[in-house]
Amino acid sequence: MRNIESMIRPCIFKLHPYSSARDEFHGKASVLLDANENPFDTDYNRYPDPHQLELKEKISRIKRVRPENLFLGNGSDEAIDLSFRIFCNPAEDNVVALNPTYGMYEVCAEVNDIEYRPVDLNAEDFSFTASSVMKACDDRTKMIFLCSPNNPTGNLLNREEIYKILDSFDGIVIIDEAYNDFSGEKSFIGDLDKYSRLIVFQTLSKAWGGAGIRLGMAFASEEIISYYNRVKYPYNINRLTQSAALKILSEEEKMRAKLERILSERDRMFVELQAVPTVEKVYPSKANFFLIKIKEGRADDVYGYLINDEVVVRNRTNVDLCSGCLRVAVGTPAQNNKLLSDLKNFK
Ligand SMILES: *Cc1c(COP(=O)(O)O)cnc(C)c1O
Repeated sequence: MRNIESMIRPCIFKLHPYSSARDEFHGKASVLLDANENPFDTDYNRYPDPHQLELKEKISRIKRVRPENLFLGNGSDEAIDLSFRIFCNPAEDNVVALNPTYGMYEVCAEVNDIEYRPVDLNAEDFSFTASSVMKACDDRTKMIFLCSPNNPTGNLLNREEIYKILDSFDGIVIIDEAYNDFSGEKSFIGDLDKYSRLIVFQTLSKAWGGAGIRLGMAFASEEIISYYNRVKYPYNINRLTQSAALKILSEEEKMRAKLERILSERDRMFVELQAVPTVEKVYPSKANFFLIKIKEGRADDVYGYLINDEVVVRNRTNVDLCSGCLRVAVGTPAQNNKLLSDLKNFK
């Protein structure tokens, strides 16, 4: 098995990271003249904490990990992109991901000139096997992306199959848990001690209701996290995001209450959507959205009909294994009712 060091791109391994003014001074200061900031107070005239210490402490307590095992990004999207830049040599290495899945893995692969190898899920139930994923790997495969619950299909990936990959793949395994809070499933964060090449992504964008502030989290070994910290922009999490995140995270009870409402609407919508004549199939979901198959190839028509009534869903009919499908998020009861009545009225 390769060690982490040998999987890091050579240029990143020997990188001397930029050292910001606020990296070089720690302690109490009453006169700050080190960062060429404007001295007059605007609430925002000072650079934010480049290490996000207070925010990391807070997240550490909630997630029961040490701050050293946590990287914060400008959305999970930053963590995805940095993963390519840390581990993958352009035009040489490749990554493997399930198909269909979250589109950003492939976009970041292309941006970084890394071959992207999609492995089709089972067309009936969107399940996968470790062996199909392992078959797509070779000695230039640096990372495997597993999204669970998966976007856009909504299902959890089989845990035993994920463990098989963790036990046998000689590289980095990224498990994207953006929708974990909706699933009732145990996070893979608990497996970080056992698997030194595992990276788990979570986000404030979904269950926590913080999509607007852009805060993504990566959990991994201290060694792996140290590379994310070297490569990131020094002040990647701005002051507004850090303070808003602290507020959002201090209201966990409120989040849980809203989560319960979303889950009960998910149960209701699963039943009600299946009773709609134009709906052929509703795929079971452990996330906060449903993939819905529309009858008689009329997905585009239904999509347009909804838009006409100012209801916007995601048209996934051109995505592999999703032909005829729309993806709809679970909304408020009133929003869900409007969607249902539109779908029932569609002819
Ligand atoms: C929504 C989503 C994210 C969140 O990305 P952010 O950049 O943190 O908003 C990550 N992964 C998947 C699979 C998603 O669907």
